[in-house]
Amino acid sequence: MLFVAGLAAVPGGKTSVRVADGFDLPVGKPNGEGYYMSRGFLSYHPGEDWNGVRGGNSDLGDPVYAIGNGYVTFAHDARMGWGNVVIVRHAYVENGKLETVDSMYAHLDRIMVRKGQQVLRGQQIGTIGTNRGMYTAHLHYEVRKNLFIGINRSSFARNLTNYHRPGQFIAQRRKLPGGGRTAPIPINTYKTDGEGFVFPESAAKKKDSKAPSAARTERFRVNRFGDMGD
Ligand SMILES: [Zn+2]
Repeated sequence: MLFVAGLAAVPGGKTSVRVADGFDLPVGKPNGEGYYMSRGFLSYHPGEDWNGVRGGNSDLGDPVYAIGNGYVTFAHDARMGWGNVVIVRHAYVENGKLETVDSMYAHLDRIMVRKGQQVLRGQQIGTIGTNRGMYTAHLHYEVRKNLFIGINRSSFARNLTNYHRPGQFIAQRRKLPGGGRTAPIPINTYKTDGEGFVFPESAAKKKDSKAPSAARTERFRVNRFGDMGD
């Protein structure tokens, strides 16, 4: 009973997080020194790629930092085009209102945080990688308005309804009020099938739709035909 009740897969819930006092670039902190953006935010690429100025794989193993204070909602190998992914959920205050975003970091060579961990602005969360040699080493990162995306990017429109332009988001929020406070954030807002379990929402669908393969199909899609994670 206790074990079942404690499963991380229970949907919904809240936790508290230290409010972000501003945001920095995730490489060459705080201003991206020594790195350049090799690919920007495009209709099919809702994030930015960052490379070291020395070229090639010279940035392999370089540190990747949390862009702001936050809470780790995903720290796992999402496979396929993504590889090792970390997602951090942030709360920040803007115009007197509490806002939330997810920052997502992909193709990491190493993951240095755990799901459920609180991280601080500028804290190292991993290192730049190649996703098992699939790419020249670089960091792909995203800033999402929509907290339901998680690693299921193909289910959501790749536009400014769901995403921020990462560089612009950070540039406009280098210093914010509210630092030092904590705020509630929602958790368990997206499916994490890639971690090896079926999210209850999928199980519920299966039960309701009389389609016994629904949950399995969902998991298969995420793992095999999900985003290529460019
Ligand atoms: Zn990319």
